[in-house]
Amino acid sequence: MWRAIVPWLLALAFAACAGNQKPASSGVAAAASVPGVPPVAETEPVASAEDAADDPAIWIHPTDPAQSLVLGTDKQRGLHVYNLDGRVLQTLPDGRLNNVDLRDGFVVKGREYALVAASNRTDRSIALYLLDPDTRRLERAAPPVPTGLAEPYGTCMYKSSDGRFFVFVNEADTGRFRQWEVRDEAGAVRATRARQFVVGGQAEGCVADDESGALYVAEENSALWRYEAMPDRGNARRQVDRVGHNGLVADLEGVAIWQGRHGGGYVVLSNQGANRYALYRRDGGNEFVGQFQVTDNEAAGFDGVSETDGLAVTSQPLGPKYSEGLLVVQDGSNEPPGEHQNFKLVSWRDVREALGLKQAD
Ligand code: CA
Ligand code: CA
Ligand code: CA
Ligand code: CA
Repeated sequence: MWRAIVPWLLALAFAACAGNQKPASSGVAAAASVPGVPPVAETEPVASAEDAADDPAIWIHPTDPAQSLVLGTDKQRGLHVYNLDGRVLQTLPDGRLNNVDLRDGFVVKGREYALVAASNRTDRSIALYLLDPDTRRLERAAPPVPTGLAEPYGTCMYKSSDGRFFVFVNEADTGRFRQWEVRDEAGAVRATRARQFVVGGQAEGCVADDESGALYVAEENSALWRYEAMPDRGNARRQVDRVGHNGLVADLEGVAIWQGRHGGGYVVLSNQGANRYALYRRDGGNEFVGQFQVTDNEAAGFDGVSETDGLAVTSQPLGPKYSEGLLVVQDGSNEPPGEHQNFKLVSWRDVREALGLKQAD
């Protein structure tokens, strides 16, 4: 009997191994049908070893685009502030800051700042900062805001058309979202809770579209959802896409918006399980546009990108390298081997050309 079964078992074992084959962890081997885009720059590695870099945000300098900044979390230690060459300008060792986001035009005592929010797993709070456009440095805006969540996880911000500032924080495992409004009250920055809803499964990546009022949420093992960002508009949602469709492989992670004119542009999603990024139209029913990957830049010595957690994108031209905007993506495996994780900077023009998209619609 064994004589009959052994070859069958061997065949089964072989099939199981073949099924387990994964792409190289660098994720840069070009899949033939998926366009590849090389990074233009990479940041210095984060301070912590292992899985540490997580989520970036982009701040646009009001008058000199070349002085714009990239903020990036080290989820074991705090926050790094980088220039567009990827050099660290400031480090805030304020705890296990997991995700970060920002919005411009926050006025305190008659002065305009960017308001920065980060989810802090150390004290389960929201860390709020003011980014001063003159110094390009961050300072604490307020004492930590308690979230009441078991483990604050993802964070994103929303500035409504009537100029109100909101912060969303979600909870690991449960998919619970909470939303706060942040205001300046005679020089004191205060956060007031405005809403709570539950997505279903664990969700981290999220982004609000300030123009349309949409809130996009990536439920990691399931779907990309579109909610309303305004707290009084209810919790009805629409599925934009789902795992197993359009090449999406769990986890679905960071989400960001490349804002075109007249409501146009794209929603960018980290399709982490496939080491790719998926693009959707920002308008209408969020039609699927295509996918790309971030491959090695051999000439410059920058490695490609795999297993991206957080990402950020802007459509603002930031000098000749980023004439149609900048995409920043976390890299799960920075090379050469042994380097701590970091963030890669990609020119949006390269993405657009790789996907054969028309220029700025
Ligand atoms: Ca995640
Ligand atoms: Ca993450
Ligand atoms: Ca890499
Ligand atoms: Ca590298």
